[in-house]
Amino acid sequence: MAEIVAVYEYHDEQDVLVYASVRFEPKAFRQGRPDGTGGLIWDMTGVRRVPYRLPDVIAAARAGQAVFVCEGEKDVDRLVSLGLTATTNAGGAGKWPPEFGEYLRGAHVVILPDNDGPGREHAQTVARSVHDVAASIKVVELPGLPAKGDVSDWLDAGHDVQELFAVARAASGWSPNAVEQWRKRQEQLRRKLARSRAKRKQEHERVTDDQEWRRRVDRAKAIPIAQIAVMLGLGTPQGNGKRRFVRCPFHQDEHPSLGLLDGENVWYCHPCGEGGTAIGLYERVKGVGFADAVQQLTTGR
Ligand SMILES: [Zn+2]
Repeated sequence: MAEIVAVYEYHDEQDVLVYASVRFEPKAFRQGRPDGTGGLIWDMTGVRRVPYRLPDVIAAARAGQAVFVCEGEKDVDRLVSLGLTATTNAGGAGKWPPEFGEYLRGAHVVILPDNDGPGREHAQTVARSVHDVAASIKVVELPGLPAKGDVSDWLDAGHDVQELFAVARAASGWSPNAVEQWRKRQEQLRRKLARSRAKRKQEHERVTDDQEWRRRVDRAKAIPIAQIAVMLGLGTPQGNGKRRFVRCPFHQDEHPSLGLLDGENVWYCHPCGEGGTAIGLYERVKGVGFADAVQQLTTGR
C-alpha cells in the first residue's frame, strides 16, 4: 500500500489553493483539487494549472529578482528554505506548459536541470517559454553533479548558496538555437509587414479626397519604372524592349532577375514570387509608406 510522504500545495495569484501534488512512497505523484472540506478529489479535469509557489514567483519577478526553476517541489522547498525564490511544475520533466513563462516576466531566470536527458530537455522547454519575457535566462549545469542528480543532491554534497550564485553568475546567458531565432525573426517580419500595411491603408484613406494630392500621385505614377530603378541604385536595366532586368534587392540575386515592364510600369521577381507597381517598388526598397514614396518621388525629398 502506497504511503503519502508529502503534499505540495499549488496556489493562484490570490493565494487560493487550486490543487495539490501528493507524493507517495514507493515514489509516485498524484494531483488533486480541494473538495472544500480539507480533502482532495483525484480529478484535475478543468483545473487551472499554475507554477508552484506562484505568489512568491510573481512578487520576485516584478521586483526583477532571481527566480530558480527546478525539477520537483522538493528542490524548490530546499532553495526556499535557503532564502531563494524558486518554482517548478507538477508532474516533473516534460510537463512545463509554455504559458507558465508569462508568470516569470521581468525575472532573472536561473534554470537548474536534473543531470539526465529529460532534465536537460525540460530546461530548454522552460528557457524557451521565458525567452520573450525574462530579464535574463541561464541554464546552469551544477559542477560535479552525479548522473540523475539534482540541486538537493548538490547541496547535500556540501555546496552552499554563495557557490550556487557564483556558478549562476559565471554561466553564459541562454539563447535559442538557430531554428528558433529564425522563426522569431520571421514572426517579427510578419508583424512589421502587417503594421506597415495597416499604416499604408491609413495614409491612403487620409489623402483620398485631396485633389492636389491626387495630381501628385498621378505624377508619381507616371515616372517610368526604369527611372525609379536607377534612382533606387538597382543599376542600369539590362536587355531591351518592353521587359528589362535589374538585380533584385530582396533576394541573393546573382543575375539580374527583377523584371521591369515599361508599358505597365510594374515589376516582378520570379525567384521571390513578388511584384507590384513602380511606387510599390520604391516603398519596399526605401522602407517607406505610400504617402512618403509619392512625396519623395515628386519633390525629390
Ligand atoms: Zn527577388
